[in-house]
Amino acid sequence: MWINPKEGELESELAIRYKKYYEAGIRGIFFGKDNESHFRIAKSQGLETHRWLWTMNRGDKALLEMHPEWYAINRKGESCAEKPPYVNYYRWLCPSKEDVQQYILDDIESVLEKDYVDGIHLDYIRYCDIVLPVNLWKNYHIEQIRELPEYDYCYCETCRMKFKEQFGMNISEIEYPEASLSWRQFRYNSITNIVNNIAKVAKKRDKKITAAVFQLLKWLEETYVRIGLTGI
Ligand SMILES: [Zn+2]
Repeated sequence: MWINPKEGELESELAIRYKKYYEAGIRGIFFGKDNESHFRIAKSQGLETHRWLWTMNRGDKALLEMHPEWYAINRKGESCAEKPPYVNYYRWLCPSKEDVQQYILDDIESVLEKDYVDGIHLDYIRYCDIVLPVNLWKNYHIEQIRELPEYDYCYCETCRMKFKEQFGMNISEIEYPEASLSWRQFRYNSITNIVNNIAKVAKKRDKKITAAVFQLLKWLEETYVRIGLTGI
């Protein structure tokens, strides 16, 4: 169950509410933000307490001002810091940059070090959506029948350099980078690397990780269609 804990609620009322959740068969809560009394009372009623976090999509004003260079850059050269795709809150960080990796790890460590937090839920643990579901195209006045450059990330200097180091190819010299399996793999690896590092921190503290596997579901669905199976 996902909730956003409100400030200032009576502890006695919270205890009754979380007890009801448990009795209804709910065993864990994703909390949208930190709130020690909510977490502790939920735990006392037998529930697991997980903090729900936006992982790669980070629009905090302070971070945008302090580190605009950490943000992902699309195939047109535009940064999420200045020109977010689709909606104003789409402010994706580049997963290849070591400073970004450290920032995310430190943030997660500061959540998991609290004894009342059982685990973390990684939402937005991916790149920006390159192709939206077809029923959303009309909302944004776009036709995404191919991978458009303004939604294709990340083409920053760090990504270009690391891709060259690891795959021996210069992404600027590839005519259709969106069709390069190596380039795609490089980017999958960048996100996997972030998750593996988070897993180490969580394991050290014996805490759980879950994730919103949006892209995986989408990929599975596309694969099922391609190989002729019906939906998932
Ligand atoms: Zn990058």
